[in-house]
Amino acid sequence: MVKYIFVTGGVLSSVGKGILTSSIGKMLQSRGLKPTVMKIDPYVNVDAGTMNPYMHGEVFVTDDGGETDLDLGWYERFLDLSLKQENNLTTGLVYKSVIEKERRGDFLGRCVQIVPHITNEIKTCIKNSAKAAKADISLTEVGGTVGDIEGLPFLEAIRQMRLEEGFENTLYVHVALVPILDVTSELKTKPLQHSVNELRRIGIQPDIIVARSPTMIDAEALRKIALFGTIPESAVFCSYNAESVYQVPLILDRQGMGDFVCQRLGYKCGAPDFGEWQQFVNAVVKPENEVKIALIGKYAGLTDSYVSMSEALRHGGAACKTRVCITYLEAEKFEKQPQCIDELKAFDGVFVPYGFGPRGTEGKIAAIKFARENNIPFLGICYGFQLAVIEFARNVCGLKDANSSEINPNSPHPVIDLMPEQRGVEYKGATMRLGAHKVIIEPGTMAHELYKCKEAYERHRHRFEVNLDYLDLLKEKGLRFSGKSKDGRRMEILEFHSNYFFFASQFHGEFKSRPGRPSPEYYGFINSCLNKKMGKAKPVFS
Ligand code: GLN
Repeated sequence: MVKYIFVTGGVLSSVGKGILTSSIGKMLQSRGLKPTVMKIDPYVNVDAGTMNPYMHGEVFVTDDGGETDLDLGWYERFLDLSLKQENNLTTGLVYKSVIEKERRGDFLGRCVQIVPHITNEIKTCIKNSAKAAKADISLTEVGGTVGDIEGLPFLEAIRQMRLEEGFENTLYVHVALVPILDVTSELKTKPLQHSVNELRRIGIQPDIIVARSPTMIDAEALRKIALFGTIPESAVFCSYNAESVYQVPLILDRQGMGDFVCQRLGYKCGAPDFGEWQQFVNAVVKPENEVKIALIGKYAGLTDSYVSMSEALRHGGAACKTRVCITYLEAEKFEKQPQCIDELKAFDGVFVPYGFGPRGTEGKIAAIKFARENNIPFLGICYGFQLAVIEFARNVCGLKDANSSEINPNSPHPVIDLMPEQRGVEYKGATMRLGAHKVIIEPGTMAHELYKCKEAYERHRHRFEVNLDYLDLLKEKGLRFSGKSKDGRRMEILEFHSNYFFFASQFHGEFKSRPGRPSPEYYGFINSCLNKKMGKAKPVFS
């Protein structure tokens, strides 16, 4: 029988619910249990795919092509899971399904209401996703902050789940900010107390309270939280600022949270085994080297826009005991002040991430040109791959106005063009080429050295691709396409051997990167940045 843990958050958003939920999963997994995780996003969008990363951070792509909230990325990285679209539930999705049922006549004669119809739909989705994952324990994180109007139906649904599933099979965890007032250096628990009250007003009494604070809470704060939260002190835990988020499960487990959860849910588990996790954490927090990476982005002001990418860079770093310091640079800077491009000389590697639309593309192209001409290791992902092709076409193949038809629909040389199946597609939601697709890797290439296999499944999210009309010219000038789609018609990986490391992919290796098992392309990049920095010969990865 599946048991359920629900995680809610208070005081403000971005309090670390995603990391906490992932960490609870990790504590249980390290005791031999099989967790699955669902994220609830109370916004009305059907999925995260149509949202600007500036508002909500990156869009995480699942194997099955779901465009989901970035928290699914944390669940996958912490628990090494491959989640599905259905692991991200939104108001839009719930209403869409209920309205479809109403139109079909499923509720004929009845008035369709938030309670019970919407709440029933929510409960069914939570239960079905747990069942489909064949999990022992299902963790559900409710996005937003307790008290938000749009979150109410979801909180009502999880409240009802205790009645249906029983006390011993359900557990409510509430996490809230406990700030330190800089005037008095005092830990303030009042905002947390208020958010617990708000939760109780809705009918949910938390079983566990986690204080999210800059430092470990003191005995007095702990006593207050327990007293006003009506829980024993042994049910209060503290998630304080850590050097690395990957330390959080270890920090909470040391406080007894893993044992407490197991006991409360009636699991008889032995001691946790954090062996490999601990090793990875050690490599992250005690690195022997350091590399500086310039990330040239369009959404550089919000680092969450690139969270899977920065984590994949760090996974690559941990594998070579190297700290990866990322500087987020706005691409437009290199358009407005072209002389600034010289600043890239100070970096060990240049990374050009995903992107959409024309803004900043010329700046990114200038950065790629600089990396290529100055032999600075370069990795490009998706748009970064496409822009590398444009740069090469312009500056090596002599096609001056080469461009992507996404950027300039009238370019005389659309070296990047819309995929044929995208023509005529008008709807924007979930219509890109999405999810895991097979990539055939050519033996005798750097891609093959890195991937160590002839085929890989990597996740995609794009509408444009390399225009095959220009393939011969690009190849003739030295660009090598070492990864292709199954039919050989879609270019997936490029490499340029004249450089120390110049590599890019149409797919997003970061979505499958895991602690201790970095994405091969990210690993290859960081390893090369390190080797070049140390004055070593170009690495051979096989
Ligand atoms: N905008 C490009 C496309 O749609 C690249 C997308 C991306 O970087 N994810 O093909």
